[in-house]
Amino acid sequence: MIVVMKIGTPEAEVTRIDQEFSNWGLVPEKIVGKHKVVIGLVGDTVELDPLQIQEVSPWIEQVLRVEQPFKRASREYRQGEPSEVAVPTPNGTIYFGEQHPLVVVAGPCSVENEEMIVETARRVKAAGAHFLRGGAFKPRTSPYAFQGHGESALGLLAAAREATGLGIITELMDAADLDMLAEVADVIQIGARNMQNFSLLKKVGAQDKPILLKRGMAATFEDWLMAAEYILAAGNSNVILCERGIRTFDRQYARNTLDLAAIPVLRSLTHLPIMIDPSHGTGRAEYVPSMAMASIAAGTDSLMIEVHPDPKKALSDGPQSLTPDRFDQLMRDLAIVGKPLGRWQSAVAVV
Ligand code: PEP
Ligand code: MN
Repeated sequence: MIVVMKIGTPEAEVTRIDQEFSNWGLVPEKIVGKHKVVIGLVGDTVELDPLQIQEVSPWIEQVLRVEQPFKRASREYRQGEPSEVAVPTPNGTIYFGEQHPLVVVAGPCSVENEEMIVETARRVKAAGAHFLRGGAFKPRTSPYAFQGHGESALGLLAAAREATGLGIITELMDAADLDMLAEVADVIQIGARNMQNFSLLKKVGAQDKPILLKRGMAATFEDWLMAAEYILAAGNSNVILCERGIRTFDRQYARNTLDLAAIPVLRSLTHLPIMIDPSHGTGRAEYVPSMAMASIAAGTDSLMIEVHPDPKKALSDGPQSLTPDRFDQLMRDLAIVGKPLGRWQSAVAVV
């Protein structure tokens, strides 16, 4: 249920109404928009009559029922206003969201050693990326495949952050690693395979680092938004949704099917920022640039691109990784599309 307050409602009245709803056993959440204050009501609202809520205060303009099962993630919950995720980094605060320039996240699939991660960080930064990605804990299909260097890789990511000022995005697989990982990560990634690991979602929802929630490879939009809802319901409002390809019937020519329709679909369903990962989405480096270009044209808020200094020697996902030179070229091409759309801003200040 959404309670829209009239413009100019006194602060004390909003507090009083909040209290009243809490007394009814509901969980009110105040959302301060550009023009209006809205109170989101979560809880057992099925039996509630909007008219009964309307009577609580003459300052209530309108009471609306959220029809979607994902309440907090729904577009209506913020009255159609997009949310933004602000991430402080050493290079300045970077904003993810519909009203901000495109944010580019780049880096290798896995952190392999100090030299490669620092070199990649320098190259992607010079090309204009805002964040460095790199896995320390890797979710691999085979238990015999490289599993990531774990804790020591977190130290290497910290070194790359120190050297370049880039924010760090890295994946959390096990809640036991959360504190250690949150010391280095500016954004915590929850991977496709853990999208419905509800206990992990509750844990990352109960801390403050922003979350990048990748779409499960067989997840419907509703599954995905309900997973985001777990994080929002636990108190963390900073969630970015990342489309990374879904499983369809062809695995011979592309690793996954990148669902670019996710951009307009999510835009209509949710206020949360959108990211597209054409690297995992296609699994082939040669397909990544065109899908990245299509993503920015279709209105994505951010991109995640795998970049490796020597893809042929990569310990994971080499076939889908761009070389730093190819990434540099891609960033120039993206600028050509992004500028007229008003979604392009040159790299953040150099430190
Ligand atoms: C990754 O980003 O390296 C990764 C494993 O992604 P996904 O969870 O989308 O497969
Ligand atoms: Mn990867």
